[in-house]
Amino acid sequence: MDGPKVPPRSAGALAGILDSPEIGRLIAELGETRWTGRPGYPLRAMVGVALAKSLYSIPTWTRTVALVREHDALREAIGGECPSVYAAYRFAAKLRAYSDLLDACIARVLDRLHREDPGMGRDLSIDGSDRPAYANGQRFVSKGGRERADSEFSDQDASWGHRSAISTRKGGGYYGYKIDMATCSHTGLPVAWNVRSARHAEAPAAAPLLDAVRAHGFAPETAAMDKGYDVGPVYDACEDRGIRPIIPLRNTSKVERGEHRPPSCEHGTWTFAGSDPSRGASKWRCPTGECKPASRWVKADRLHPLVPRKTARFLR
Ligand SMILES: [Zn+2]
Repeated sequence: MDGPKVPPRSAGALAGILDSPEIGRLIAELGETRWTGRPGYPLRAMVGVALAKSLYSIPTWTRTVALVREHDALREAIGGECPSVYAAYRFAAKLRAYSDLLDACIARVLDRLHREDPGMGRDLSIDGSDRPAYANGQRFVSKGGRERADSEFSDQDASWGHRSAISTRKGGGYYGYKIDMATCSHTGLPVAWNVRSARHAEAPAAAPLLDAVRAHGFAPETAAMDKGYDVGPVYDACEDRGIRPIIPLRNTSKVERGEHRPPSCEHGTWTFAGSDPSRGASKWRCPTGECKPASRWVKADRLHPLVPRKTARFLR
């Protein structure tokens, strides 16, 4: 088997996560549920295998169980006994019925990280990433045949979509999900994420994601996103929540007409003199101060964000 290599520290890391009060409480709460058809293995072992699957990014339970069985230290970390593939698979399926317990566990972990680093989540990076569905993703019923209706897909939550044409990957048809993720720019840790069908555009996903970030107790000040989010409603969604959007401009007709440029006069290009979020506007000044008035407010929008493009914070 061509399994992933396990660094020596990893078994200790897995044991550490299982021993944390946050995961310990999840295991205890799962134990208190009326868990029909007990897995036959301790819940610590079941949660441990599930954690190993995600820690090592292993796509299948077969390979996860094989990995844990092969490594004494990993097996010890989850309590000494590795569940069967079938037990692990069934456990994962049942865990979906207890997603509220999982969500509460994630909230506890984020809360602790936030308490240890109060600056966490202040500056966000938001991105949508592809996640293939491990399901029947054949786009056509037969070669050259008609395109499948969504109802014919075995995994009905996923559908054909297109990778963002501006992403670094080559664009094209893509079957699966997208995960919209808000990551803390300083710690690199995710603070909220949502899953959506790949065929839905990423920009409408921004507002619910920002709400999820706030529901986790974070108070972001800026949110950096790629050009796929460069549409007016995303700017409004950010500003409505007191967050400065930091998004590069697409070359739209307004941009071609130069409407995004700072004000100017016979004395030259006006200079940025600060923003007032409560006013929802940025202030700009005549470079020589000879104009009357010598400064004016420009309402925040896609073309004129409160953190102007070309400033240090924007280019960060
Ligand atoms: Zn002037």
